[in-house]
Amino acid sequence: MVFDADAQVGGELLLIGGEPSEFCVEWAVEAYDVVAEVHESTLVSQVKSGAEQAGRPDLYAEWRRFVTTQPVLGAAEFLSAKNRFLTVPQWATWIDESYEPVPPATTSGGQVAVCGLCDQWMTPTSGGGWHCETPRCVRALHMPSPTLRDAEGAYRLRPELVRSVALPGRPELALAQALAARGARVVLYPGLDALDLVARWPDGYAVGVDVKDWHKPYLLARKIKRFPRWETGHPFAYGDAFLVVPADRVARNRSYCDIVRRRSAALRSQPHIEVLTDQALISRCPDAGQPGEVVCGP
Ligand SMILES: [Zn+2]
Repeated sequence: MVFDADAQVGGELLLIGGEPSEFCVEWAVEAYDVVAEVHESTLVSQVKSGAEQAGRPDLYAEWRRFVTTQPVLGAAEFLSAKNRFLTVPQWATWIDESYEPVPPATTSGGQVAVCGLCDQWMTPTSGGGWHCETPRCVRALHMPSPTLRDAEGAYRLRPELVRSVALPGRPELALAQALAARGARVVLYPGLDALDLVARWPDGYAVGVDVKDWHKPYLLARKIKRFPRWETGHPFAYGDAFLVVPADRVARNRSYCDIVRRRSAALRSQPHIEVLTDQALISRCPDAGQPGEVVCGP
């Protein structure tokens, strides 16, 4: 399907400045669920099953955290990243398949830019500046200066992983760090991504959290899964369960959490799961007075 600039359907923008809008991407995932998800998640599935077979499910979480926080790698950093887990040779393959040489067309003056707002790589504009395609950055009124990296021999995260892993991963990692700052020990992606995180405080209180960063609450409502139950004593056991939405989504639509609750069959069958913003969860959680940590395994 080809649309002219800023095409609309049902009052929603499908393209903004020639790029698919968030609504367009979410609608495409919803409408072409199987094809889109199978295509984009081939590498994710490969890492998940490879980590499980190697008896190192923590490496799945390590991989997600790494690609979410490292959009551009210099030649030496790329080599060092590949050699990080020498006892699990698949790790080097996963890094190889996650990154690609920085395309010359995306460099300017021998450099590649990393966005100061979303930490993803940017593309040069004809006017000599840099443009970030991340939806939040397209909407942002003020953009901080990008960080410029030497493009010679550098690698960048593949575009499909920016969209399907790194951008969704940002609010997950930000929440993990905020809960760790309040003293929790936070395990990322426990049970091979059965949840986004489990945070446990020294007094034993523990929460299980899935973070969902969707533009449209009624599309999100159809994608909510069952939360896992881990028995008392299991390293990932938790008491309270939360489905967390980034606060800026709710600021733009005050009914967001209500719509998710009302429209989700999964939430009706799991009434113990509370829907709230990341800021609301952070302020409700205990503060142990000294920092905890964010880890990838039990
Ligand atoms: Zn950006």
